[in-house]
Amino acid sequence: MNPERIIDFIRKMFQEAEGFIPLHTPYFGGNEKKYLLDTIDSTFVSSVGAYVTQFEKMMCDITGAKYAIAIVNGTAALHLSMVLAGVGYGDEVITQPLTFVATANAVAQAGGVPVFVDVDRDTMGLSPTALEAFLQAETIINAEGQCINKTTGRHIAACVPMHTFGFPARIDEIVNICHRYHITVIEDAAESLGSYYKGRHTGTFGMLGTFSFNGNKTVTCGGGGAIVTNDETVARHAKHISTTAKIPHAYEFTHDEVGYNYRMPNLNAALACAQLEQLDAFVENKRVLANAYAQFFEGSDIQFVGELSDSTANYWLNTIILPDHVQQQVFLEMSNMRRVMTRPIWKLMNRLPMYCHCQHGPIGNAEWLEARVVNIPSSVRPNFLEK
Ligand SMILES: *Cc1c(COP(=O)(O)O)cnc(C)c1O
Repeated sequence: MNPERIIDFIRKMFQEAEGFIPLHTPYFGGNEKKYLLDTIDSTFVSSVGAYVTQFEKMMCDITGAKYAIAIVNGTAALHLSMVLAGVGYGDEVITQPLTFVATANAVAQAGGVPVFVDVDRDTMGLSPTALEAFLQAETIINAEGQCINKTTGRHIAACVPMHTFGFPARIDEIVNICHRYHITVIEDAAESLGSYYKGRHTGTFGMLGTFSFNGNKTVTCGGGGAIVTNDETVARHAKHISTTAKIPHAYEFTHDEVGYNYRMPNLNAALACAQLEQLDAFVENKRVLANAYAQFFEGSDIQFVGELSDSTANYWLNTIILPDHVQQQVFLEMSNMRRVMTRPIWKLMNRLPMYCHCQHGPIGNAEWLEARVVNIPSSVRPNFLEK
């Protein structure tokens, strides 16, 4: 399909004939100002405050998880989850090569080493088939019941599938496989708030799930994150180490393990609460746009990525697959020149200097997607919001 036709269609969808069209902008149409002013009036702007607690309750309601812990950002939520899962110095963590760099960085920050396993082409998330093949060929279970990488001799402590652009990975199969190999699952659900797999919210299948509320995500609070879990002990530990591991006492400072200052401030939580109130409307609005894109690309040589029949995606970033790498580059060049913001999918983790030495299995699907995928404008369109 001619790039000009696509650019014209995007302009039509955003009712923007000439101006710049961003990839994803936040929309503040609810109680954001009111709640923010509340926190200032109350003086509770930092890590203790009513909105932090309310935010955690709302995250439980939305995801169906028993416990939610407010965290300062999505990367910190991932890092803390590594610590909670027992990832220690020299342990290995399986993740996908096709992800935002924060996933791999969190592994490294915990002292771990990422191992990259391929994605599925349709979900763009970790492939259960590739995972099973890797574990079967490359690992053994030792006398203590730990999964050991035969090549490196290291313990594979965790696995972090990521729900790419809000499309759920085949998470139930991934969790089953990891269970058989005694590997803890941490879901990187940073992009998939409002996305469901077989009726259950993403992030609630593994022992831990993490979310991000960064400025470019479906809902934002400036910067923010969350951890969800159904395990009470893990939840308590998460809250403890995210708040400097302080033992409660009327006035003394005692800390019983290495702690972090990772709690979300009340200011951000106020914004998060106001945004979460609008989550359903945002996702509905984004799904209408995705539907229009799907119809537009139908029957063309460009594939618009849709949700699988057993999942519901939030369509955080709409995704198209160009026929080849040359056409991907031509489209990126033309659209950005014409002030319609588009972006390629991330460069694979195993190409980055700090992770190029990490082990990886066959990654043909990740490479195939890397050469072809482009994200197109996906913001909530206020003119079409149900009030
Ligand atoms: C946004 C994002 C993160 C990090 O979240 P921050 O809040 O920006 O730290 C982690 N993983 C993925 C896949 C993301 O898209």
